[in-house]
Amino acid sequence: MGVGAVVTLYSSEIKRVFAQAAAQGGGKIHLIWLNLASDTGCTISMLQASNPDLIEAVETLGVSADFWKALMTPDYDLGWVTAGYTEEDLSQVPLLNAAFGSAPVDILVVEGTPQTGTPTGGSQGFFCTTGSYNGSPVTGYELLQKLATKASYVVAIGQCSSFGGIPAGKGNVTGAVTVTDALSAASVATKNPVINIPGCPANPDWTLVTLATVLQGFSPDLDDQGRPMAFFSSYIHDNCPRRDAYDGGQMAKTFDDPVGCFWDLGCKGPITLSACAKTKWNSGTSFCTQAGPLCYGCMHPNFPDSPTSGFFTPSELTPTLLGLTVDNVGEVAIAGAAGVLAVHGVRRSLGKKEEPEASEEKTPE
Ligand code: SF4
Repeated sequence: MGVGAVVTLYSSEIKRVFAQAAAQGGGKIHLIWLNLASDTGCTISMLQASNPDLIEAVETLGVSADFWKALMTPDYDLGWVTAGYTEEDLSQVPLLNAAFGSAPVDILVVEGTPQTGTPTGGSQGFFCTTGSYNGSPVTGYELLQKLATKASYVVAIGQCSSFGGIPAGKGNVTGAVTVTDALSAASVATKNPVINIPGCPANPDWTLVTLATVLQGFSPDLDDQGRPMAFFSSYIHDNCPRRDAYDGGQMAKTFDDPVGCFWDLGCKGPITLSACAKTKWNSGTSFCTQAGPLCYGCMHPNFPDSPTSGFFTPSELTPTLLGLTVDNVGEVAIAGAAGVLAVHGVRRSLGKKEEPEASEEKTPE
């Protein structure tokens, strides 16, 4: 099912689906939002959700966010008290109730990268120690394993949990890996395949559509990287509003160019699978290449390392391997089929491997 069909089908259905799933589950969908190594940007992004918005989802659609630390009040009463748990339960916080006790977990959302390494003088996973249980330190890696075993669905939200992101990028010293790799290393089997929604941050509407899909009782079609194909089956370049400029060889020289193509300035749209250009962001208002800056490739499995990093010089994207230059690329593109070949050639020349395999290179150095 294409992205347009999915969004059309589910945007009007999400509220009903959440309410129906809550009713089937006895009135509450128990969600744990586990933060690991990240900047909490995906939580901030979720605050921009619009179909429904986050507050509506949490308060009226039967979603009990039993633990979501970034949004909880200091006394940890968001959701878990109304769900019937008290401080007399197994531990003092709902997160530990869910991980070590009997509190249900329907959906585990992971934001941030699991850190599996062993610091000097410490134990495995101690780079991310979240608290204590029965007098012993509890690591994020341990919580991930406990909660993932219990949850009906595990959804990795954002680039860090899906593909490692910045914590697993060049210079990684904490053993930061993807959620999938972390669970595999611990031989943890999940009830359903881990769903990856990459991006820095993840798109909130795609996240809610995905959650609505699993709450209807079926998994979305995933590609070999665990991404919902509805949102990750075409390149940004294929639907970019500056594509006519690219085809015509009208290259921007500065980021404030209102119409020119940003390829010469380092745009990663030709190598990044994403529906950004289709659904856009902020209630369908705009997205990166439309708003002005280029695409940084924040959803590419290799982000932030080469060839996706926006922090490298723009010249890294010049397709010299094909004999193309900024001056003749438009001429070549106009040739039609040659332009298509050029795009594919660029993808190949920029990636050490084809994009779907690139995450395999995300190894600690
Ligand atoms: Fe759009 Fe970037 Fe492709 Fe140019 S290179 S058309 S700015 S996605």
